[in-house]
Amino acid sequence: MTETRLRFPPSPTGYLHIGGARTALYNWLYAKKTGGKLILRIEDTDAERSTQESIQGILDGLEWLGIEWDEGPYFQTEFESDHEAAAQKLLDKGKAYKCFCTKEELDAKREIAQANKTTYGYDGTCRNLPAEKVAENEAAGLPFVIRFKVPDKEGTIGYDDKVLGHIKAHYNEIEDFVIVRSTGKPLYLLCNVVDDIRDRITHIIRGSDHMTNTIRQVLLYEALDAPVPVFAHMPLTLDLNKAKISKRKHGEIVAVHFYKEHGFIPWALSNFLVLLGWSSGDDTEFFSKEELIQAFSLERINKANSTFNYRQGDAKFFTDPKAIAFNEHYLRTMPIEELAVMVQPFLEAEGLWDDAYATDKKEWFLHTLDLIRDRFHTLTDFAALGRAYFSNDFPVEEKPLKKNVLKHEGLKEWLPLLADRYEALDDFNLETAEQAARDLATEFDIKPGVIINGMRTVVTGQLAGPSMFDILVTIGRENVIRRLRDVETLYKVK
Ligand code: GLU
Repeated sequence: MTETRLRFPPSPTGYLHIGGARTALYNWLYAKKTGGKLILRIEDTDAERSTQESIQGILDGLEWLGIEWDEGPYFQTEFESDHEAAAQKLLDKGKAYKCFCTKEELDAKREIAQANKTTYGYDGTCRNLPAEKVAENEAAGLPFVIRFKVPDKEGTIGYDDKVLGHIKAHYNEIEDFVIVRSTGKPLYLLCNVVDDIRDRITHIIRGSDHMTNTIRQVLLYEALDAPVPVFAHMPLTLDLNKAKISKRKHGEIVAVHFYKEHGFIPWALSNFLVLLGWSSGDDTEFFSKEELIQAFSLERINKANSTFNYRQGDAKFFTDPKAIAFNEHYLRTMPIEELAVMVQPFLEAEGLWDDAYATDKKEWFLHTLDLIRDRFHTLTDFAALGRAYFSNDFPVEEKPLKKNVLKHEGLKEWLPLLADRYEALDDFNLETAEQAARDLATEFDIKPGVIINGMRTVVTGQLAGPSMFDILVTIGRENVIRRLRDVETLYKVK
């Protein structure tokens, strides 16, 4: 059996788009599944639009997602001589020809076709120019493009798309397309095929927006005497208004780095993206890497376009809520030690990191993450909603402040008193902390909830969270006492 060889060939003209990441994931999964190779090729022939920054962004994005490639990155510009040689080979074999038609001539023909409401296709004026005429034009310095000579055959040319079935076109519907510009630069359509032949690519999984190229590329493979790879065209991803998701329309939410910055777990994003256009056939949604590699197949890529559930200006979510749900799932269930590594940079960025969290205070740190993660959505929440666990300087939310503190003036007396009792305890633990709070409520004939909710707000700044006494023990007696004694400051602000 020949080895399967797949490729991810991004054009480095912007950041890594989540659609591009999905393409990379599908190719990577299929390479892994079949024990094959993934080749990374940077298609950087568009000198004006390709940037070093974009190349770096793509490499960083793939690395962050955990997509490993086996060969490359190769750069398309390093193989320009291959592209030129292929064009020459096609000319030499009579499978391509030089076309001297000027832009003005072609525009005039196109206008006539439009006026007659017929479809325009190149009419083959230069297809059979005698060799002397070609030589004469060249000697006169007339500019020319090179066109592929579509075989003059009856019937259809096609390929078996692994997702969409047999795709075909009549030879006579395909115009003699340009493969080399008048500047001498080969076009993408040709370069892409030449590189895939050289890289011995066996399977091409790409977006269905490339389908317009594929039939012409099949012709090129045949003309270059190369085997045609297996094609699988993936559905597009559309927003709720059925528009293709794009930077122009949707902004940064289409960029992989946006998810990194917003505290996504890489595998959560990957798992979500893979399901935009593929399903296992049952209801399984959460897959480990190994499970997904096992389950993945080209046949189960959906034909229908997938929906990215996002509406611009939707204040509640910053991206598709399903993507957030995937992140929550992994954040709340992954091994805590792995989570700790991911949380660290977010705490560092807010000045909340203590090196001891990796050494002496590691046990405390892991316990704390485990305690608070159940309500969190993204890694940024640990530094924002979770700030009170790592610092005495944290904000108090408006709602609990009003509801649980300002409404109960008595807390100014009760909480400092409770602080004194906590200080006097021999042992500060779940039971003793709770007992002292309840005893206090009984003494003053108030509901325990008043003390407990007031305490939650004063100690964490939040309305809700884990069990109050777990919180107290985790935050520690010293900090708890300090915050309870400081309760008065909250009344002064308002
Ligand atoms: N450079 C092309 C792109 O980024 C690659 C297309 C293909 O997969 O053949 O769209």
